[in-house]
Amino acid sequence: MLRTHTCGELRLEHVNQLVTLAGWVQRVRNKGGLIWVDLRDRYGVTQLIFEEGSTDKALLEKAALLGREFVVQASGKVIERTSKNDKIPTGSIEIKVSELSVLNPAKVPPFIIEDETDGGDELRMKYRYLDLRRNVVREKLQLRHRMMQETRKYMDAQNFIEVETPVLIKSTPEGARDFVVPSRVNPGEFYALPQSPQTFKQLLMVSGFDRYFQIVKCFRDEDLRADRQPEFTQIDCEMAFVTQEDILNTFEGLIKHLFSSVKGIDLGYVEHMTFADAMKFYGNDKPDLRFDMKFVELDHLAKGKGFSIFDQAELVVGICAKGAAEYTRKQIDELTDWVKRPQIGAKGMVYVRYNADGTLKSSVDKFYSQEDLAEWAKAFGAEPGDLMLVLSGDAKSTRKQLSELRLKMGEDLGLRDKSVFKPLWVVDFPLLEWDEETKRFHAMHHPFTSPKREDIPLLETDPGAVRANAYDLVINGVEVGGGSIRIHDRATQQLMFKHLGFTDEEAQKQFGFLMEAFEFGAPPHGGIAFGFDRLCAIFGGSDSIRDYIAFPKNNSGRDVMIDSPSTIADDQLEELSIRVALKK
Ligand code: ASP
Repeated sequence: MLRTHTCGELRLEHVNQLVTLAGWVQRVRNKGGLIWVDLRDRYGVTQLIFEEGSTDKALLEKAALLGREFVVQASGKVIERTSKNDKIPTGSIEIKVSELSVLNPAKVPPFIIEDETDGGDELRMKYRYLDLRRNVVREKLQLRHRMMQETRKYMDAQNFIEVETPVLIKSTPEGARDFVVPSRVNPGEFYALPQSPQTFKQLLMVSGFDRYFQIVKCFRDEDLRADRQPEFTQIDCEMAFVTQEDILNTFEGLIKHLFSSVKGIDLGYVEHMTFADAMKFYGNDKPDLRFDMKFVELDHLAKGKGFSIFDQAELVVGICAKGAAEYTRKQIDELTDWVKRPQIGAKGMVYVRYNADGTLKSSVDKFYSQEDLAEWAKAFGAEPGDLMLVLSGDAKSTRKQLSELRLKMGEDLGLRDKSVFKPLWVVDFPLLEWDEETKRFHAMHHPFTSPKREDIPLLETDPGAVRANAYDLVINGVEVGGGSIRIHDRATQQLMFKHLGFTDEEAQKQFGFLMEAFEFGAPPHGGIAFGFDRLCAIFGGSDSIRDYIAFPKNNSGRDVMIDSPSTIADDQLEELSIRVALKK
């Protein structure tokens, strides 16, 4: 080794030992005859000292030439510091250097390699390898590492077999566009990169593997957001001979294990809620349960009092923000403007303030008496000091808007503490979802999800009402995992494709292999996949998954460090029998 110790290792007990360290120059302080150098590696920082008189002159000159991020090797004696630094573990000692070699000089880095840096996002992405030298960034990847190890530990202990599935496949519909790869040996034909290993894991159940998992890259060509990357990682799992309850228990176990082993947190009881209730009470299929603020429907109280906006609305629904009655008129106006922004799209907002003296003040006093408003307050379970906020309109959009407002109020009132974790299973998702654009039903989860047996007759009469054996795990308003009990017989799978608008030929061409496998003794099975990057971000208390990915892409799906995607050489195109003619 080029070193005897790491830069995070030496303590008072090492005083007088001769050691050799290697690392990067974090900082140089030159006081003329006295030079201090902070030497950094993954494990910590150790101070080197060079002193006129006791340090050889040539060595002192060499030290004076060191710059930030130079890679050096330094040997010397560990000595006790006169002024100690209790902020770092090595702060009681320093190295009186007797030998110094510059292993590699460095250009001045484009941004400061400290926890607080001056580099903007794009610059740090371009020099991601430098950004990764920063403790705060590296620690996030160490958290990811820990979570991976603990996942494997738990899954192995539960008898799951980790199996790798291919990356060059054909389309598996998970609701996004595919990334495709041209095949050289089959001109004009393309592989698709997996949106998930869905069909393969089901085939492994047909093979009798019984319990499968994989920490696996998936690829989806979607518009990007803070919590989305074109390639991302799943903990992908499948089990045979299980009920939905078995799956929820097994994976509740995984999440609890991760929380206890990685964060020392006992996650406690994981609530279950139907999709229908989630929508009714939170306007959202991934409610943040760190705070209450449930929706209260007011139609029976608010309609028929001459306020035409409510009278004409399909739904009048509100939330009660505890203790927010002191919101000023200005703050309430700001909230109204906020819900009226095009991103939210509400037409307006009605408020009722429950004053400390028990009186009620609302923006619709013209239409509602104190007694009327007292009835509203009762419905909300409101008390003096609370603020009720009410929206109205068509049911679907109003719920969505109120859900946004609820989250905003939760945020503003400090109820979304990142150190509190509230997990929730959302169950009984609809099987199908109407798509306005294509005027067709789409599989809400994916086409392999089984309908609830008792709802199958509805497929013919009211497809939108059919519930699926599908579930999501939500933590703090973020969907961290989702799965379903699958269809495992050809007839039902065929029926499903039919309802999704596939012709028999299309279904056969795309998924004939799976339907045929179902004819060779397929066990009942089901599974789940967790968004691993998101899970890491939640554990780390971040909103963005990017920090938890070593080499992420930017918002246009570009890796600005290696400059990809990029054009390819003509002879590569030639080999692929491809000619590029971009549409204008
Ligand atoms: N393949 C699904 C997904 O990626 C998960 C599952 O159903 O197991 O969301």
